[in-house]
Amino acid sequence: MKRRIQTRAISIQRFPYSESSQVSHFLTEDHGRVGVLARGAYREKNSYQGPIDLLVRGQIKVTVMDGRGLGLLTARQVESAYPVLRQCLPRFSAASHLLRLIVKTIPVGEGSTESFLLFDRALQTLETIPLERIPLLLLSFDVRFLKQMGFAPELRLCVRCTSRPGGAYVAAEGGVICGNCRQSAGEGLTLTKPARELFRQLEARKLQDVEAAPGFVIRRCRQVLDQHLVYHLDCSLDEDWSLGGVGMERRRRRG
Ligand SMILES: [Zn+2]
Repeated sequence: MKRRIQTRAISIQRFPYSESSQVSHFLTEDHGRVGVLARGAYREKNSYQGPIDLLVRGQIKVTVMDGRGLGLLTARQVESAYPVLRQCLPRFSAASHLLRLIVKTIPVGEGSTESFLLFDRALQTLETIPLERIPLLLLSFDVRFLKQMGFAPELRLCVRCTSRPGGAYVAAEGGVICGNCRQSAGEGLTLTKPARELFRQLEARKLQDVEAAPGFVIRRCRQVLDQHLVYHLDCSLDEDWSLGGVGMERRRRRG
């Protein structure tokens, strides 16, 4: 069975394929992550405004065949390439962080409207947010994204006794443990009161209402989320994706 879908989508991966084509993945608004073949994407004339680059949002039309992993891209109308992200390295690096999380944790066929909207909103915010608030935006995105994926860390009550507030995060248990349950001072990552307060704000408030926090507090929250992502989503964040991995694609030489 063939079916045609039309949806808003953000390009999240692309590979050259044969002489003039590309295979590309999109996170779509209505159909999760979709893989497509874009025939002739490198040709002068194509109906995708191609070639397809990363982090470009647009309307796409795809013909999907049941039982086949790849759909056929038939049209794309670009809405935004988030231009500011391409002119400012700190914003671009932050966008790479978001992209990496999406690419690594959402398999083809999965993903929701909420994940598309969260991703798009974060990319748009990244274009305008003051640079010093970018680390907060990344924390806020990760907290929300993990919740959507059903992998949110438990950061309030101790995961062992479930009765007292926790003060140290243990990755293997996906949450915090309290002083009574902690077997040694070296067990887990200590979550100071300001770090717990920042997590509380990130969960409860809109990003613009989250108060600025000192660097060491942000760094500790970052460490907790990084450990959580690595342990629970196998999403290693220490690779350098900032330029080579997700950078702008060079146009192929012709001839
Ligand atoms: Zn406990």
